[in-house]
Amino acid sequence: MKNLLETIHNRLNLNQNNLLTIDLFDEFLKENGIAISDTRIKPLRTYIKNATEFISLQPKMDALYTGTNEQFVQRLLEKQLIIPEFSFFRDHITEISKEVQSNCNGKVADYIPELKNIDPNQFAVSICTVDGQVFNFGDHETDFCLQSTAKPINYAIALESQGETYVHKHIGREPSGKRFNEVTLNDQGLPHNPLINAGGMMCCALIEPESSSSLRLDTITKVWQQLTRRKPLVYDSAVYKSEKLTAHRNYALAHLMKEVEAFPTDTDLEETVDLYIKTCSLKVNTANLASAAAVIANGGICPFTHKHIFSNTTIKDCLTMMSFCGMYDFSGEFAFKVGIPAKSGVSGAVMLIIPNLMGITIWSPNLDSFGNSVRGVEFAHKLTERFNFHNFDSLIGNCPKINPRIRKKVSKVKETID
Ligand code: GLN
Repeated sequence: MKNLLETIHNRLNLNQNNLLTIDLFDEFLKENGIAISDTRIKPLRTYIKNATEFISLQPKMDALYTGTNEQFVQRLLEKQLIIPEFSFFRDHITEISKEVQSNCNGKVADYIPELKNIDPNQFAVSICTVDGQVFNFGDHETDFCLQSTAKPINYAIALESQGETYVHKHIGREPSGKRFNEVTLNDQGLPHNPLINAGGMMCCALIEPESSSSLRLDTITKVWQQLTRRKPLVYDSAVYKSEKLTAHRNYALAHLMKEVEAFPTDTDLEETVDLYIKTCSLKVNTANLASAAAVIANGGICPFTHKHIFSNTTIKDCLTMMSFCGMYDFSGEFAFKVGIPAKSGVSGAVMLIIPNLMGITIWSPNLDSFGNSVRGVEFAHKLTERFNFHNFDSLIGNCPKINPRIRKKVSKVKETID
């Protein structure tokens, strides 16, 4: 492998004195969507930052940036990251975000009293690609509760620990066609799917049922810490208490499931509902959630640490479910028009997954009649109107939509082949 510094010198537009300055390097990172705190480049960045003179190209200097992910930096320098023209893509996302921000329709969820206090004007969009290229718009540092966006992860944890066959002995795989908290089960007396409330509670019942409730929450929280690289990651006790005091529907559903013996024997109903509400109350911001979404888009592997958090078969199941059940009883219309696996929550969060490409999260508390974020849904529509992200866009010859995965020059060649 070529000396990294030499490649950097060759690739970057250095200043008139041929100096590689930290400002130039940071500008280059920004242009490519790489955060300056990204651990994959951190030792190299610190080295460049501390170098006051022309940086020697001595190979022995390599020792000074040990810990840098050289392969990643090489790809970054060669413009081989998954979105090569990241600033071009970012400009489009900014444009869509601004358009969507002017939509003030909908209203915040009020059946959980604490959620009524949220400022409905807040809005954030975050992106994280499978190569860890990030972009944030708006209130991306403000925390909100996961609510139903916790469900795909609870499902994935249940799948990893119990296996698909066992999990689906207790949960169906069909859209319900009903509201997310409807007190109803399928013909077999099971939750219709893992992404509505009944299924969400069932997944909680299947996660380490033999452990204490605090250990079970700990297991789920640790997965979220790995997905988001945020520590500590805690639940919002005000939202938790507020939901717990008013969770009559969820209790009704849990009692119904208990009555028809949908739960595994020995399931503690109270503990299950409590764990479910705590997972819904976990606090994140859009940047955190986009990072989690990118792990899903990347087949279960964290783009930053390369740690295998979920197996690819778990992710395949999870994405399949998100494709037709993630947006409640708007899921069919969403799959038709937008065509991206997604999950929403009543806090106003929407998580979009574009497999092998990126995770996108939108947070805006005003909801439509289905319980989906109004701006989140509009953003998703505008996104796939502009980019070829719909599941089946690849079937359209000469698709007029933008494909940000390839460089513009390459895209021209492809067009003529098409
Ligand atoms: N905690 C909420 C509930 O159980 C989650 C629902 C949602 O986000 N759709 O009602």
